[in-house]
Amino acid sequence: MPSNKTNFKEYHEKQLHALKTKDEQVYELIAKEYQRLQNTIQLLAAENQCSPAVLAALGSVLQNKTAEGFPAARLHGGCEVVDDVERLAVARAKEAFVAKYANVQPHSGTQANQIVITALLETGDKILSLGLEQGGHYSHGSHVSFTGKFFNVENYYVNRETFLLDYDSICEKAVKVKPKLIICGASAYSRTIDFKKFRKIADEVDAYLLADISHISGLVIASAHPSPVDFAHFTTTSTYKPGGPRGGLILMGNDYNRKIKVQRKDKLLCKQIEESTFPGVQGTPYLNHIAAKAVFLKETLTDEYSARQFKIVENAKRLADRLVDLGLDVLTKGTDNHMILVNAANSREGLTGVTSQKSLEDCGIITDKIHLPYDEKPSSITSGIRLGTPIVTKRAMGTEEMDTISALIDATLKNVKIVSDSEYKIDEPFKQQTKKQVKDLCSNFPIH
Ligand SMILES: *Cc1c(COP(=O)(O)O)cnc(C)c1O
Repeated sequence: MPSNKTNFKEYHEKQLHALKTKDEQVYELIAKEYQRLQNTIQLLAAENQCSPAVLAALGSVLQNKTAEGFPAARLHGGCEVVDDVERLAVARAKEAFVAKYANVQPHSGTQANQIVITALLETGDKILSLGLEQGGHYSHGSHVSFTGKFFNVENYYVNRETFLLDYDSICEKAVKVKPKLIICGASAYSRTIDFKKFRKIADEVDAYLLADISHISGLVIASAHPSPVDFAHFTTTSTYKPGGPRGGLILMGNDYNRKIKVQRKDKLLCKQIEESTFPGVQGTPYLNHIAAKAVFLKETLTDEYSARQFKIVENAKRLADRLVDLGLDVLTKGTDNHMILVNAANSREGLTGVTSQKSLEDCGIITDKIHLPYDEKPSSITSGIRLGTPIVTKRAMGTEEMDTISALIDATLKNVKIVSDSEYKIDEPFKQQTKKQVKDLCSNFPIH
């Protein structure tokens, strides 16, 4: 019998109990995932761990609200509270990124890109971006993504020897291609991106510039990486990679006031972005996610968050240095951000990205296999692994732990008996011993 007196606190506090009693199976799976996270070293560049406060907002009654449109201009009734939630998230996004305009509605980083792209381009218009196989993202024009299906996509490349962006060659390519939109930002690039140079190139060919900072947006907030917000016409990011809820953001700086011609009429760029959001690409925004973004963005304004972003870079540099010392082939010999790209195939004869990822995972060290620039192995095999330090840093690990972790990685990759590009064997006692070392290390750094 529902009590007619449940108040807000009781209503929300009974959530976990409700799940346990109503669906033991899902409850147990969630508990198992918590244990997995607790007992393994998460070296993932594309993940983070949000706070309990963010999780609470995600699991709140706000998830029930349908509110198509924007604050004070919704298609539905009863929106006064969620209007305030969204306004708060917008204000905090602007503050965190020092932006003049923020749109907090995109359901994901991919959707944020889709919104910007469809706001600016007509079918068949040209995009110039870093290819997926070179470190770009699906939503930047891969042929398997909508962007590649409906637009005419050309790619620029990193230098074959240095694996660095070569701005002169990007400029040359832009002059030749004359794109309407240039996309910069990457999923696999461990060095600083010069957004000012990208803007110069965009201006030279009269193109819009979109900076997708999904991977580095936490660093950008803390100024541990230069910000694109005033250089790019649009900046997009996922909100989970910097440590918030699933979702996306679109930000604008100096260009927020600029106009675009739509059917021969002048329209504000930011207005065009809103119409492209709804009804262009999405339906109702996820108000629980928007509230969680607000909670997260408030966290990013703290000294703790800011200091942690610098620590993430420090840990990544230390891990990269140690791996180089141990003889592994680290692309560009190091990193400027949270990410380390290792060419496993070059590090040890016969090793591949997939056998490295899997053997490390057998020992409790979680990484991603990754297709490196100019990688000749198929995408299911790859030559590389991508490591990242946001989660270990969140768990309060420091340079000393990075040394331990690099030794564990090196020992594991040395222990692997290679059978083929996708098959390997690992010594059982070694595996059990390493797993235990990992678990012991993790138990001193609980997730919180
Ligand atoms: C992760 C990532 C995205 C996608 O974000 P989702 O929220 O998972 O859709 C977009 N762009 C880049 C560069 C990314 O690394």
